[in-house]
Amino acid sequence: MKAIAVIPGEPDHTLVPEGRGVLVKLLQVGVDGTDKEIDAAEYGAPPPGDDYLILGHESFGVVEAVGPSVKELRPGDLVAASVRRPGSSLYDAIGLQDMTTDDTYFERGINLRHGFLAEYYADSADFLVRVPERLREVGVLMEPGSVAEKAIGQAWEIQRRLKVWQPRRAAVLGAGTLGLLASLFLRLRGLEVVTFGLQEPPTRNADLLSEIGVRYVSTRQRSLTAVAEQEGAFDFILEGTGFSPLVFEAMQALHKNGVLAMVSITGGERKVEVPADRINQGFVLGNKLAFGSVNASRADFERASLDLSQAELSFPGWLRQLLTHPVQGLANYRELMDTLTKAKGAIKVYCQVA
Ligand code: BGC
Ligand code: ZN
Repeated sequence: MKAIAVIPGEPDHTLVPEGRGVLVKLLQVGVDGTDKEIDAAEYGAPPPGDDYLILGHESFGVVEAVGPSVKELRPGDLVAASVRRPGSSLYDAIGLQDMTTDDTYFERGINLRHGFLAEYYADSADFLVRVPERLREVGVLMEPGSVAEKAIGQAWEIQRRLKVWQPRRAAVLGAGTLGLLASLFLRLRGLEVVTFGLQEPPTRNADLLSEIGVRYVSTRQRSLTAVAEQEGAFDFILEGTGFSPLVFEAMQALHKNGVLAMVSITGGERKVEVPADRINQGFVLGNKLAFGSVNASRADFERASLDLSQAELSFPGWLRQLLTHPVQGLANYRELMDTLTKAKGAIKVYCQVA
């Protein structure tokens, strides 16, 4: 349904202050496990004053119009929007709202801010990152890519403590969109990567990984612990399966001086028993480190844009194969959510908006 609305009390109806507004026409919007949880009413909240939330946080679109103070973007540019919007902490003030210390966080399409499953959105240019024309077909991978980039970027930043860190072996736990992109980015950084998932090969995901020189291991056949013991521990591990007990297994599969990034959102109440003495001892004697990482800053989106571009050069056509399940048009939102929850072998489910 189309309608004409005004903001009563605001004569010029400006949505974005200081002439920094950008009007973006959506091309594709991806959906993931977070949308599944929001759709099932387990997560997420509408903006204050609204009783509905426009879904969609993985956006890719084309600039239609820019405000007078926007010099970095012009109509026709391809853009992806970041998800977090600033609150009030010091980190928010310097553009690092992904690092906010506020209790409340604002995320477009997830929490307290409307998302991108619409024909158009308006936002400040501050939150938009340009995507090169060469990525037109795969730009919807920018947001999940930014989440992987943040975790990897933070790990590398953290490891500057070691002066001479030379990571060789990485493990990625989870072989969905996030795991595949993280594996790709680690390969592009020159690491040997082993990626773990539940499904037993042959699977599309395992084949895709082997195309970029990554080994896939099904945890139904061999555990992370077994691989670490038999082939060597890992310098970097990224845990993104959504199954929190794996974090503690990963802590024991870390090499000395290694670093573990935790990116799973786990809203449940799961409890497990862990070998606390052994994990603690390993961490102390091995100077190991574990950290959490949530979504991404502008710099992480920019790095995603660079690495996705590099991927198109190094592995032409590979990224396209991740876009397994397009659903045509906003009107087919039920099909979109059904595909997200039911489709077998899906990697990226997304709405082809325009
Ligand atoms: C999104 C992140 C977000 C997280 C928690 C994920 O699906 O990609 O941007 O921070 O959910 O809300
Ligand atoms: Zn997401």
